[in-house]
Parts: sequence; structure tokens; C-alpha cells
Amino acid sequence: MRIILRNASWVCTCDEARPWITRGHVSVKDGVIEAVQDSPIELPADDTIDLDGCLLTPGLVNTHHHFFQTLTRAIPRAHRAASEDWLVNLYPLWSMMTPQDIAAATRNTVAELLLSGTTTSADHAFNLGARGDERIRAQVEAAQSLGIRLHLARACLPTVGGRVETRLSAIMGNRLQAMIDSDTHLLEQCRADVEAFHDPRPESMLRLALGPSNVTYTRPALMREFADLAEELGCGLHAHLHPRAAERALSLRETGLAPVEFLEHSGWMRPGTWFAHCTELDENDIARFADSGVGVAHCPRTILRLGYRMTPLHQMRRAGVRVAFGVDGGASNDAGAFLSDVRLGMLLHRAGSPDDMDTERDWLSPMDTMRMATREAALLLGRPELGAITPGLRADLAAFDLRGLDCAGALDDPLGGFFFAGSNPRAQLTMVEGRIVVRDGRLLTGDERGIAAATNEHSRKLLERARAAYPGLA
Ligand SMILES: [Zn+2]
Repeated sequence: MRIILRNASWVCTCDEARPWITRGHVSVKDGVIEAVQDSPIELPADDTIDLDGCLLTPGLVNTHHHFFQTLTRAIPRAHRAASEDWLVNLYPLWSMMTPQDIAAATRNTVAELLLSGTTTSADHAFNLGARGDERIRAQVEAAQSLGIRLHLARACLPTVGGRVETRLSAIMGNRLQAMIDSDTHLLEQCRADVEAFHDPRPESMLRLALGPSNVTYTRPALMREFADLAEELGCGLHAHLHPRAAERALSLRETGLAPVEFLEHSGWMRPGTWFAHCTELDENDIARFADSGVGVAHCPRTILRLGYRMTPLHQMRRAGVRVAFGVDGGASNDAGAFLSDVRLGMLLHRAGSPDDMDTERDWLSPMDTMRMATREAALLLGRPELGAITPGLRADLAAFDLRGLDCAGALDDPLGGFFFAGSNPRAQLTMVEGRIVVRDGRLLTGDERGIAAATNEHSRKLLERARAAYPGLA
């Protein structure tokens, strides 16, 4: 099966040998990029797509999400809730979710990702509890039916802890305990899921990673057990980490070590590990991240939504830490079109720059931004076969139509225009493993309106159940 993408006005390859082609042509054969050139490809093809007016790029790679939260977007009680109140308002809703709810949320989330040119996505699935296997299966089936490449962090909730747990216990009682993975069989469940779903091959459409929702200082042995299991099974490790003042104090109290020292001690500081947020890493932490090859999923919109401190992006990049972008969950982003987050990410880190900053060196350029959203993210997830338009790599591609009003007057530098001026997050074409999943801006693997309607129905019923169970949430 050969598909030829002809006549793309611009191709941003993210291949260092030839990062940019004007008037480019790409052929794809059996899921692999076959040829990339600036002259027409004269080969027989099963399908040919003309991309005049379009920017062709590697498919975008999202490094952090929580698909299940898409049923709980823009919840009024969380509109102005910062971190702790946000959790207290949302956990009761999440506790009522069924595997069918998770499948519906996954379909909606994946459709949004594919429609914004995202071909690979991580998901940090920590809302599993006692029905973990059933939920994982529902999520995997829903994602695969739409055709995205998935990196599923088979996560868990070993503890909630602190004031959040005290407040949630008062509201939720036994339902909170049902969400917490205190089960002694947790590691066996993780092993069984990895053995059932993890595919290590280069063409893999599904890989698993392991880890808790947050770094778990109160059950420190568990962190070592996750690291050992991930190493044995050849999977990555993923968790949230800021570490904020309270987290630093907790780590010292429970383990006698600073958070990143504790992670080193537990076998987590190694390639294949990536953490979400890292908004409060200090200079010493950043150096350890760089030395150990640990990656960071930077979620710019969550910083704004939940009022986090700004990720020290300049310091991380200067030190050589691998940083990529993430959407984060539907309840802390609310929007789901990854391209919008990437555009925001190019600008957000500039806020509050010191007067003497060398902006030419430290502010992300459009090319830096594209690389972070594609090649760097693929490498962070341990996928060197993804993230660039290079012959021999897997055929994950996206094309964006730059002929709209938003980019008009901004095409002297088309990549700059795409990021600075572009406001349309919809891809013209999305291809995953050589399969066209979005064409002419329309999803081919699912009915967009039907998916949205089903999501609304699941969300409405979930909120109804939650309001009946927790009258105080009405
Ligand atoms: Zn998150």
C-alpha cells in the first residue's frame, strides 16, 4: 500500500539533515516513510493527496493526559478552584465513573487529538481502582478503534494523603477507599496488563508505562517496586512531580531525602522515566534530570488553569533536560486540541522573563516549538522511529491548511505564521502508521457528532449519579 502526499507548499521535517523543504513530496509505503523530496515522486500509488497551501509536519506527540477527565470538563465548582479545592471538587465525580464512561471519554479525547494533528499520545490512567483491568481494556479498545498510537501509563492511586484525604474522606467515606489502590495485588495487576498489552516493536501502536498518580513518599517501597518491574518488563515510568514546598517537606519527613534524591534512591532517575509538570524543580534537581536522561511533560494550559508556578523551561533546556508538551487532563485543561497547547507553550514561558534575559537564546522559536511537539516528545517516550519526516521512520504525519484568514499576512515565514498567527487547531490531514485517520479536516475513523453526543450523555448521567450520591455537590 503506497500513498503519495504531493505538492505540500511547505514541509517541516524536524530532520536535522534537512529541516525544511519548500514544495515537498512524500511517499509512504506500508506504514513507513519511503521518500521525501522537492520534486514529484513518479511511483505507482494506491492513493494520492494534494497538499497545496498546506504545511506538512511530523504528527504531534502529546506526553501527558488523563483521558477519563473529559467527562468532567468546566465543572462550575472547579472554575475558580486552585489545586487542593480542585481535587476535592473532582474526586467525588471521578469515583462514580464506569468502564463505559472511560471508553466514551477516551473516544472523545482521542478524536480531538487526531483532529488537531496528534498521532501519538500518552495517557496517565490513575482512576482504575478495583475494576482496573476492565477499565484498561475499555480504554485501549476505544483508543485503538480511532487509530491513535497510545502510550498508556498504567497508573494507580496508592495514596491521596494530607489535607485532601481528610477532606475527601469526610465527603466520600468508603468510596474514597475504593479508589485507592491499597491492594497487595497491585504489582501483579500491573504485570498482567503489561503482558497483555505492551508491544515493544518499532511499529507498536500501544506501549505501557507504570507509576502512581503522584510520587508516593508514604509507601516508599512501592516506588522501588514499580522501577524494578518497569525495568524487568522494558516499560517507562511516569508520575506527577512538581515538587512543591509541601511535597519537599513530606519527602524529607517520610524518607529522609529530598524528592529527587528519593527518586534516585528508588531507581526512577533513568531514561524512560518522565514526569508531568516539574514546575518547582530547583537548580540541583534540573542538573540531575539532565544527567540521568529523565524527561519533563510541560503542560502550559494547566499552569494557567490551576495557577501553578511557571515551569523553569529556560533553565531546563539550557541544562539539556528533554522537555516536551502535554495537554494534561480534561479537567485541568478543559480544551483538548493539542495544537492549541503547543501554540500557547511557545509563548507562556516568556512571561516574567528578567530584563537581562537573552531572548534570542532562551525564548522558544517556531522551529524549537515544532521539535518539542514532535521529535523531542518522541525521543522522550523512547520512540526514535517517530517524530520526524525521514525515510525509514514510521509514517506519522499531519498537514495544516495555511490558506485561512488567521495565517494571512503571516506567510513570509510559514512556520512562524503557523504558530504565532494561526488560531485554527484543526488538521487538514492526519496519518498514523500510514493510515489516514483525518482527511480534509474530517475524522474518518469515527462519527464526530455521534462521539460528542455520547460523551454528553455519559457526562450528564455521571453528574446525575454523583449529585445523588453527594448531595453537597449540587
Ligand atoms: Zn496530570
